[in-house]
Amino acid sequence: MKAEVIAVGSELLTPKFIDTNSLFIAERLNEVGIELQGKAVAADDRSTLRAIISDALRRSDLLILTGGLGPTDDDLTRDVVAELVQRPMEFHADIFDAIQKRFAARGLKAPEINRRQAMVPQDAVVLPNPNGTAPGLWIEDQGKYIVLLPGPPREMKPMFERVIQDRLVSAAGGARLFRRVLRITGQSESYVEEKVQPLYANWLAAPTKITTTILASLGQIELHLTALAQNDQEGRCALDGAVEHVVSTLGRDLFSVDGKTMQEVVGGLLRLRGLRISAAESCTGGLVLARLTEVPGSSDYVDRGVVVYSNQSKVDLLGVPPGLIAEHGAVSEPVAQAMAAGMARVAGTDVAVAVTGVAGPAGGTPEKPVGMVAIATARVRNARTESRVRTFNFIGGREMVRFQASQAALDMVRRWLLEDGA
Ligand code: AMP
Ligand code: MG
Repeated sequence: MKAEVIAVGSELLTPKFIDTNSLFIAERLNEVGIELQGKAVAADDRSTLRAIISDALRRSDLLILTGGLGPTDDDLTRDVVAELVQRPMEFHADIFDAIQKRFAARGLKAPEINRRQAMVPQDAVVLPNPNGTAPGLWIEDQGKYIVLLPGPPREMKPMFERVIQDRLVSAAGGARLFRRVLRITGQSESYVEEKVQPLYANWLAAPTKITTTILASLGQIELHLTALAQNDQEGRCALDGAVEHVVSTLGRDLFSVDGKTMQEVVGGLLRLRGLRISAAESCTGGLVLARLTEVPGSSDYVDRGVVVYSNQSKVDLLGVPPGLIAEHGAVSEPVAQAMAAGMARVAGTDVAVAVTGVAGPAGGTPEKPVGMVAIATARVRNARTESRVRTFNFIGGREMVRFQASQAALDMVRRWLLEDGA
């Protein structure tokens, strides 16, 4: 079934308001296996509205409109839809009675203009609105469904829940969409696409079809797998199978198969291994530790962190030799390693991570450009400290560099912990 949403309201086209109704509607539709083909935001303008609605009606089987059902002159949705499906309007006295009662309950008289909300296109089903004056409307026209819902979310949501239950579940054939979010780091979007692409043909041909979307965001690539299935069991089975294929294709670049964030994954590994971590941060200014401690229960494995921004602080708090900084510069692999080892020693943790880099926008040089970040991890085992270090060159502005550095730091910890076995 092809479905579209149209949010009606000129205020939604200003910088002040956003259309959140369509997000709620998309979510509920997805749950019954209906995916949106498109959506639009339309101004409270008769000809614009007419054009957008008639276009959508040509393409789609299900059209959901929100907003524009109010009593004022700029509320046009009801009129325009009635015109397009060529149905005369009928006055429903019971609707107007209910509106009058709502006003009377507040000691007011219903204004005449509210009569508009009691006008119903011929043969439309009236959807009661317990939270407002404007009823919704369900119209079937030439095999297509058109649903008109009020704009205020607290009126629209309960009404739409009823519509889903009463009318759309059966129209959608009883299937639902199941989704799994996989996350990959340390590789480009095109690398991931190239690796995973050969799997698509099998997934599409499987009895429970699986479709994919790849989304690149900062420091990670997301692979969304979607299965249309009749029940939980079927959905889970199909997705588990597909996830296994991705795991064997992408290996350790794949860090999350169940929507977990990097900090949750790293925290889970630390807990599993019974290890504690500390962090020494220069250019990330505490972001690594902020992300780790965002996870409830992180006190089980997070010990402490220091923000060592100045050279002197690296010397004072972590025992980094001043000569090392003088020789290599603060942003260098030897200094990152000394920071990590010093942090592990000071905190007495099993694992430490250290970040030093040029976050920009100023401070870059030809040898050490903005975005260059040295990250070291240290591990203490049997009183011996081992460390690993890498230099990254991140792109983007200050915030982007800092986030990517925190992601890479957490990822280095993750990869090292994975080497210890399952
Ligand atoms: P209306 O039914 O057009 O009178 O809508 C009344 C109010 O509902 C608007 O002023 C908004 O605050 C809210 N509203 C309308 N459409 C949306 C939407 N798509 N998403 C979120 N809020 C909305
Ligand atoms: Mg409006």
